[in-house]
Amino acid sequence: MVTVSCERMSLKSEILGSCNICKGSGYLPDSSVCSCLLKFRSYNRLINAGFFRSTLDLFSGDKYVLPIMESGESFIKYFVKNPSYVEEKGLSLYIWSRDRGRGKTTLEHYLMYNALSLFSNIDLYASSRTYCFHHISTFYEIFRKGLSNEDWKSTWYVLDDLGNEDRAGDLDWKKEVMVSSLQRVLHYRRDKKLPTIISSNYSPSDLSILYSGELDSLLEIKFDGNLGGLLFREVHVDGEEDLRLMEEESAWGIVSEEEKDGNNIS
Ligand SMILES: [Zn+2]
Repeated sequence: MVTVSCERMSLKSEILGSCNICKGSGYLPDSSVCSCLLKFRSYNRLINAGFFRSTLDLFSGDKYVLPIMESGESFIKYFVKNPSYVEEKGLSLYIWSRDRGRGKTTLEHYLMYNALSLFSNIDLYASSRTYCFHHISTFYEIFRKGLSNEDWKSTWYVLDDLGNEDRAGDLDWKKEVMVSSLQRVLHYRRDKKLPTIISSNYSPSDLSILYSGELDSLLEIKFDGNLGGLLFREVHVDGEEDLRLMEEESAWGIVSEEEKDGNNIS
């Protein structure tokens, strides 16, 4: 616990301390809140909810560009513009690409960071609003071990990398755990009208095959393999690899601008 509060302290002093507008006080001369304090509050809530600091840092300084989307870009833009409405109706997204490294996790972070930037304003702030980010392996562990963790009931829930749970060993048993857990979670969230963002390397029709069609109605996967109904919309991310993710995860280190333009790292 001590470590956590220390980290929180340093996060605050780090974010506020580098602000040239308020010089680290967090407030402006007219005693309104400085943007650095809003940023710290958003960071603090998201990091405690399981989001990654390094990924959130991609958005500071307005560097972030949306990934190339084959379809569903309008839903992303809608999400970005109307988080209050998304929350009110429980609108949900299924973001997928067959290949890894297309920026899906970053996009999930961006959507939540964007929503929090708005929700941090005094008139939209609600202490009852909660957030959670789970990678599918965390999700699987919670249900496999029967843990009391019910963070998946949070107001906003991001489930990353669906379909990529460890499927070594007893396949049937694991699939059963996954399907029943996912049904429980998706059911709960649909009934309560809570927004859910799911990412996956499976197309909706491939996911349907993976789970033998048992999640189709909850995820609103239709007979033709397309997704979309009352709440869920499909976003197909494609295009080039997101090199920022490679920088983080590979031994290549920081890729220089020329190399990025040349695009020949393989
Ligand atoms: Zn400031």
